[in-house]
Amino acid sequence: MTIPSRDLPRVVWRRILRELRARTAPRTPRRIEIGASVQEIAAQLPEREAPRFFAMLPEHAALIAQFFPAARAQTLDEAEAILAHRFDLLGSGPVEMGERIDWHTDFKHDHTWPLEHHTRLTLTAPGGGFDVKVPWELSRFHHGLRLGQAYLYTLDERYARELVAQITDWVEANPVEFGVNWAGPMDVAIRAVNWVWAVFMILHSEAATPDFLALWLTSLREHGDYLIKNLEDGWPRTNHLIANLVGLAYLGILFPEFPQAARWREVGLGRLWQELERQVNPDGMDYEASTSYHRLVTEMALSVAALCAINEIDVPGPALARLSAMVDVIAAYMQPDGTAPVIGDADDGRLHPLSVHPDPTCAVLDHRHLLALGSLVLEREAGDWAGYADPRRRGWAIAAGDEWQDAFWFFSQDAAARFVDTLAQTTPRPPDCPADGWVEARPGVRLRASALSPRPISRADVSESRGFEASGLYVLRHGDCQLTLVAGGVGQDGAGGHAHNDTLSFTLCAYRRTFLVDPGTYVYTSQPAARNLFRATASHNTLQVSGAEINPLPAELFRLPGEAQVTLHRWIVQPTFDLVDASHNGYARLEPGAIHRRQVWFDKQHSLWLLHDHLEPADAGDEGREVAVTLWFHFAPLFARLDAAHNAVRTEEIDGPNLALLPLGRFPLQADLVSGWVSPRYGVRRQAPVAKFTGRVKLPADLVLLLYPQPGEVDLDAARAAGREALARMRQTLTPIYRGGD
Ligand SMILES: [Zn+2]
Repeated sequence: MTIPSRDLPRVVWRRILRELRARTAPRTPRRIEIGASVQEIAAQLPEREAPRFFAMLPEHAALIAQFFPAARAQTLDEAEAILAHRFDLLGSGPVEMGERIDWHTDFKHDHTWPLEHHTRLTLTAPGGGFDVKVPWELSRFHHGLRLGQAYLYTLDERYARELVAQITDWVEANPVEFGVNWAGPMDVAIRAVNWVWAVFMILHSEAATPDFLALWLTSLREHGDYLIKNLEDGWPRTNHLIANLVGLAYLGILFPEFPQAARWREVGLGRLWQELERQVNPDGMDYEASTSYHRLVTEMALSVAALCAINEIDVPGPALARLSAMVDVIAAYMQPDGTAPVIGDADDGRLHPLSVHPDPTCAVLDHRHLLALGSLVLEREAGDWAGYADPRRRGWAIAAGDEWQDAFWFFSQDAAARFVDTLAQTTPRPPDCPADGWVEARPGVRLRASALSPRPISRADVSESRGFEASGLYVLRHGDCQLTLVAGGVGQDGAGGHAHNDTLSFTLCAYRRTFLVDPGTYVYTSQPAARNLFRATASHNTLQVSGAEINPLPAELFRLPGEAQVTLHRWIVQPTFDLVDASHNGYARLEPGAIHRRQVWFDKQHSLWLLHDHLEPADAGDEGREVAVTLWFHFAPLFARLDAAHNAVRTEEIDGPNLALLPLGRFPLQADLVSGWVSPRYGVRRQAPVAKFTGRVKLPADLVLLLYPQPGEVDLDAARAAGREALARMRQTLTPIYRGGD
């Protein structure tokens, strides 16, 4: 992997600059100084009318509690834990931090960073052993949102006092540019945004005294000054730079009184919209080959677009179009069970997690809150507030399901109107209900029967199979069944920092149960071996030749040079079937070498998939030679069983749907079931079954396997009969399609 020549001077210059600053940076921190002008801003802030922030009023919290009664209770539970300084971060489980929070320690691994200038700190060690993300995550102050929300729900000053005490303590313990919490500009930016949200929530509390506000504003000014000097704009450019710019945009828009604010705003907004066009592929998918980072970047951009909307700041048309496409990608990849397929790296990164979820894993995997928020923000920008200028936005609102809490925190009244409208369209009118009767659409939400649609819209009506060719993401969906195939590059201009060796891998969700998954990420730098295990070829639902990696894994933990070239041969969406056909040459470098080509045929009428893997000799000399092959299938943590008689693997869940993996035709590989890992969120891993089919084949080779989901128990003989019929249909349909050649 080489740095493109146009980026090289900037990258070299940044390294020199960093080296210089490490040498010349001060040895001792300086105390924060609060000027008279900041005190003046602080005194006026609670009554200031412009610029505007989102209305953070108790009546808005009450509206959320009315629509989502469980959210209020959950928020108060979480806020109580924060009052007790009990945190559960990045898979740590609940940890008591004691009377005074230690902001400088990775408490998962008991590693503390000294209060040195950030340029002189060691953030990672070659052998791992500690994780800088732990103190960073705590200092992002996502928990400040819970204190602010709890205050708005209850007006209990304890929550406001705790937020004030924690921010005051943080400023005391983290003098600007000193210590680990000034070592990651992205985290500095995210903290600034969360401090803004959280303090605006308690702005009218007794605890938010002018003295506190002056301290908070002074530190925010330091955050802005730091960000403009430390933009992460080396190579490759990633979500980090976008986060930096989001921080600057927030501070520049909201605090024009600061001397540097105009510049922060100009750089923050101007470059953010540029960067969106650069870092998001034309098909709408973020270019880092990760659904988790796609969610983060979409959330960041939507948040700033919303702030622009209420302050009447224009967002350029191309950026809006890109943002709209990004939301559309989320609508396309969300699975029928309300989880996103985990593709590429996932560190659960969020800008501002405003919604609460009883299950932390659901909170990580559910991206639907951005469909609700996107349907509001982009409508507002389009100037068509009341209707749906773009029919896709109605689809987003419906596909958002109940995930409207975030949207309510931004625009409570509008969100309520839109949510009720969505409920009216999706709730069936009971046949015996008189038109002037009432129907309970959700607990506590009653709608007049006459408002309900006689033919309610379902999610299946608004989402269909979609292909994103520039990014290599293919969603094969019908009703409650979805298979999502990855056939793209490593992203980041070829650096692949957040990509996995997942070419031609897929996830599978059927009848609202996720069966086959990408095992996720688990951790970044604290355990290099685990990081490489989770991004390796064998951790993905793809075919492996001779135990080799699709792309060789380099020593760097945030690099995956994309040596394998991926080719899309066919992508066909029809009413009765979908077909995706793609190949890669990652194994061509081996001896003997092979090209892996995979066809996935989705029979929509019978809700099953056929997986056809073809291994082509890489050159003529490889023909007839033998290679070792493994087909990997990673299950979600379900109960799975090997059926030796059928050479098959199937799940045996007592209630609800099941899936069978059954070879068809001549199939020289042997089925086996082993134990592997699935990481549903950062820092957490669970054991889960892994099916593997191994053996040796002569090149060229063809392997066909049936993926057979059923709403209840699976009968393997019935599966085999259905598979044979499907295979015949597939051949009949595809013969004319492929007649012209490849
Ligand atoms: Zn993966």
